[in-house]
Amino acid sequence: MMKSYNDKIKKAAELIRSSRNVYVLTGAGISTESGIPDFRSPGVGLWEKIDPMKESTVDVLMQNPARFYSVAFPRYAKLVNAKPNDGHRALAVMEEMGFIKGIITQNIDNLHKKAGSKNVFEVHGHIRTCRCVNCDSNYPFHLLTDQLKQGIKVPRCPKCDNLLRPNIVLFGDLMPECFFEAQQILKNECDLLMVVGSSLSVEPVASLPVLVKRLIIINKQPTPFDYISDVVINSGAGKTLTDLLNAL
Ligand code: NAD
Repeated sequence: MMKSYNDKIKKAAELIRSSRNVYVLTGAGISTESGIPDFRSPGVGLWEKIDPMKESTVDVLMQNPARFYSVAFPRYAKLVNAKPNDGHRALAVMEEMGFIKGIITQNIDNLHKKAGSKNVFEVHGHIRTCRCVNCDSNYPFHLLTDQLKQGIKVPRCPKCDNLLRPNIVLFGDLMPECFFEAQQILKNECDLLMVVGSSLSVEPVASLPVLVKRLIIINKQPTPFDYISDVVINSGAGKTLTDLLNAL
């Protein structure tokens, strides 16, 4: 018989309590309740009119930076003022109370850190800083938006006048060091992974759940990993994580 929502919350809480090293993997779905559209929910989407796999790439950035800054970049710049929601806050409390050890996130929106989470692996980068592609100097993210506002089409490094780029992982970029750290932790230490708001369809993050013995999935739509999960809850992240925190 299908388990009710309350039974699933209870089972998820039991799993968390009986595990030693719980990590959480989050995707764009945890931030939709903060007003940031995800990639794959039907009918909405930050990228509805443009294809990020064509526009948000290292090739476009390096070959045609003015296009990168006029087409792909405004979608990132918009995220700067977003605020964390109940889901981000519940995860921060779970970490503080010792129920979870850390969060691996595909989001670049900075909302886990804004909510107070400490151990966050931002495996697709973040919108706090930018860097020079030549001398690697780092600057606050707003240097990009400040220069664009002044009418500069391609932001430049104050030190060497080369191209500046956001510290986010574009299609064609290598994954950052923290991705491989997270991969090792999942493989060697983690005994329960809770996935929240990810379609689990973007590689290489989509290969992380198989590294862990037990899985909880909280996602509005089905994912390819539902069939190997211990608990699957198909509802909104904010309420579900709040209910889960209360059950803990
Ligand atoms: P995705 O768009 O592929 O999948 C999001 C999933 O979340 C969907 O399956 C959807 O059903 C579910 N969802 C939507 N709202 C939900 C809610 N309130 N509660 C629970 N589930 C909800 O997202 P992804 O797997 O993270 O992959 C998208 C890629 O795009 C990532 O690489 C990420 O870096 C990037 N991205 C980031 C942001 C952000 O930083 N907030 C936003 C859009 C895209």
